[in-house]
Amino acid sequence: MYLYNTLSHKKEEFIPHTPGKVSMYTCGPTVYHYAHIGNLRSYIMEDVLEKYLRYAGYDVKRVMNITDVGHLTSDGDTGDDKMLKGAKREHKTVMEIARFYTDAFFEDCKKLNIKRPDVVEPATGCIADFIKVISALIERGYAYEAGGNIYFDTSKLEKYYVFNDFKEEDLAVGVREGVEEDENKRNKADFVLWFTKSKFDDQELKWDSPWGVGYPGWHIECSCISMKHLGEYLDIHCGGIDNAFPHHTNEIAQSEAYIGHKWCNYWFHVLHLNTNSGKMSKSSGEFLTVSLLEEKGYNPLVYRFFCLQSHYRKSLVFSYENLDNAAVAFAKLISKISSIINSEQGEVDPAAFEKLKAGFTAAMDNDINTSLAITALYDVLKADTTNATKLALIEDFDKVLSLSLIETAKNSAKSEDEAEQLPEEVLQLAEQRKQARKDKNFALADELRDKITAMGYVVEETRQGTVIRKK
Ligand code: AMP
Ligand code: ZN
Repeated sequence: MYLYNTLSHKKEEFIPHTPGKVSMYTCGPTVYHYAHIGNLRSYIMEDVLEKYLRYAGYDVKRVMNITDVGHLTSDGDTGDDKMLKGAKREHKTVMEIARFYTDAFFEDCKKLNIKRPDVVEPATGCIADFIKVISALIERGYAYEAGGNIYFDTSKLEKYYVFNDFKEEDLAVGVREGVEEDENKRNKADFVLWFTKSKFDDQELKWDSPWGVGYPGWHIECSCISMKHLGEYLDIHCGGIDNAFPHHTNEIAQSEAYIGHKWCNYWFHVLHLNTNSGKMSKSSGEFLTVSLLEEKGYNPLVYRFFCLQSHYRKSLVFSYENLDNAAVAFAKLISKISSIINSEQGEVDPAAFEKLKAGFTAAMDNDINTSLAITALYDVLKADTTNATKLALIEDFDKVLSLSLIETAKNSAKSEDEAEQLPEEVLQLAEQRKQARKDKNFALADELRDKITAMGYVVEETRQGTVIRKK
């Protein structure tokens, strides 16, 4: 299996530190708001990677943090505290915000068939671990106290810009346009490990530490949570491409300074989902969430399918037109699978099975090429073999793709049967209601639902879309 490694800028053969086992770390969400579908693109593609590793026979342990403290609106040490901002916006405490949006994140993951990692660890649960590592970094000369805060001293490293040969003047956080320079830093790229002199007087979450009452920086949490659960050798670290600098660069700096050797071998970065107008954002334009897509009548798995149609290392443009194209393709795929289910099955042909499976594994072994893996799925549908073989292959590929292909096909056949029996008047009302939901005219949608109900039918929202049946 080959994976592109951001560290070497090359596709490399994947060889885990311990044969047969894979340790995998994922930067989790900052839980100050709902995840947008861009964030979720990263989690979908990381989910596919994890599932393919398991499919290939590896024993995977995957850890994810939940950022509930320390992440400022800039990924460096400037801007507002994201959690505090969320709490103020909703007149709640930081912990209430964290709990609410952590649950909302996992609800979205469930709708998108994203598996929950083996370990999920909120940063606020690991303060003692952060203090232990920061203390050791100070002792070993890699960190210093200035103006009350603790900083990592990047000048102590042989190479700081590990992912790119950045020029310090161009990219160091302290000199980016519009960013104030922190006078306490000895070097421009230095970053905060522990804040005590907070500019946020109303900081809610604070802990006692050897350096005074304060709170951790964002970067230290991922190093510590990863090492706590996965030890000193990490096979794969994942995240969206924006995390490569400064977040992952700083994680490497701290972790390797602490353990004294190379920490993580493979860096898996997912390119961004953008809109036609540019970067996806929670604050400007339409805030694209899974719930919004559902309100507009899309099955969340259509969004997963849309993501899988492209390679994770290409940026992807979201538009409703593109999503509609994916929805049409997904519906056709499901209908083809339905007709396979409803036809004469025959026996599984092992030779045909292996040959078609080889197409799928070749695509996935080549840097998780999901777009070619979907082509391999279409090859199965077209293949000259028994339906039993086709179904076995669809089920097999879906362990990785997680599109609920067979379940959706069975349910869609069921709802088509039921739909056929619906009177024309109900079908028309259902169509008008679908349009009203797409137009976000929820009052009209509710009115239409009431009309359908009054005619003796039940309207249900399911994972596969709206189902209408007789009461
Ligand atoms: P955050 O909640 O901001 O910490 O981000 C969660 C994850 O989403 C991180 O891995 C980010 O790198 C990733 N991410 C942020 N924006 C996008 C985007 N537009 N497309 C894909 N991934 C993203
Ligand atoms: Zn992280």
